[in-house]
Amino acid sequence: MSRLKDLLSKLSNAHGVSGYENNVRRMIEDEIRPYVDEIRTDKLGNLIATKRGGSPRIMLAAHMDEIGLMAKYVDDKGFIYFTTAGGWFDQTILNQRMILHTENGQVYGVIGSKPPHAMKEEETKKPVKAENMFIDIGATSREEAQKMGVRAGTPITSDMEFRSLGGDMVTGKALDDRGGCAVLIETLRQIKDVKATVHAVFTVQEEVGLKGGRTSAFGLEPDVALVSEVTFTGDHPGIEMKDQALEIGKGPVITVSDAEGDGIIVPERVLRWLKNAAEANGIPYQLKVGTKGQTDASIIHLSREGIPTGVISTPSRYIHTPVTVMSMNDLEKSVELLVKAVESVDRFF
Ligand SMILES: [Zn+2]
Repeated sequence: MSRLKDLLSKLSNAHGVSGYENNVRRMIEDEIRPYVDEIRTDKLGNLIATKRGGSPRIMLAAHMDEIGLMAKYVDDKGFIYFTTAGGWFDQTILNQRMILHTENGQVYGVIGSKPPHAMKEEETKKPVKAENMFIDIGATSREEAQKMGVRAGTPITSDMEFRSLGGDMVTGKALDDRGGCAVLIETLRQIKDVKATVHAVFTVQEEVGLKGGRTSAFGLEPDVALVSEVTFTGDHPGIEMKDQALEIGKGPVITVSDAEGDGIIVPERVLRWLKNAAEANGIPYQLKVGTKGQTDASIIHLSREGIPTGVISTPSRYIHTPVTVMSMNDLEKSVELLVKAVESVDRFF
């Protein structure tokens, strides 16, 4: 396995639902320690690593959290009801195997449901809502579930291991945004001759309202910022290129604009810098003009008096499901682009 693939696999298999990023943070801290001058965790839990230099001061951000669930109520038969953390499409939660992260360790469970055999005709046509789903951990009573460590507030993630698919494609439960984290880690390892001061921020709670991005950007007050993310493609059945003109295998994505109103319109100066980094180094890239979906960039660029911010994403299929797919070559190219961007930032800002 290549170095980057091995790193991505480890990160995707790690568990860190929004607000519970400790394990991921520890893993990343170990990875980046040799390549940075200073590492600290801020009050909200963001991991901030700094490589000292001159100006400008650039903030790089990737979010550590993944979408998941949280236990809400255990009924007297030991079945667990939950709330969602992050943007789930309810149908993708049904009948998954999950891991409940209790104080006593990991407990496995499945999202149970009424068998289709017992459903009335109309019922089979309606999607099941998350609020009507429950988790079966094999307990037969509330007491037994509690003895296993499950209680209100227990964080829950998908039990879906990282795997290689055909060609250079891979799939994992948390490629959003551990793919972005892997790119950022590898960038810290590879950058050299950097005149800028680099603050690499591994943010918390992005999936529940861009929270870590907001506080860390305020605290750091950088001159310029870049977000390392994943974004969905229009290259598979069920969606058309006119809906999202991005493809897997065609290289990293530079955002021009995403989300109408609550997203970001990337400043022209940032676009010139990123396109130049790609073109001067023969790195293929795709341009994204999207209408829906936010990233940490949506909030970072509005910090203080405004911060020029860009987004580099790796194209991915089936985001916000436990089976997100991406190409390792695209991920390698995202690293190359981020490295070249950081190395040339002083010429643009
Ligand atoms: Zn994300």
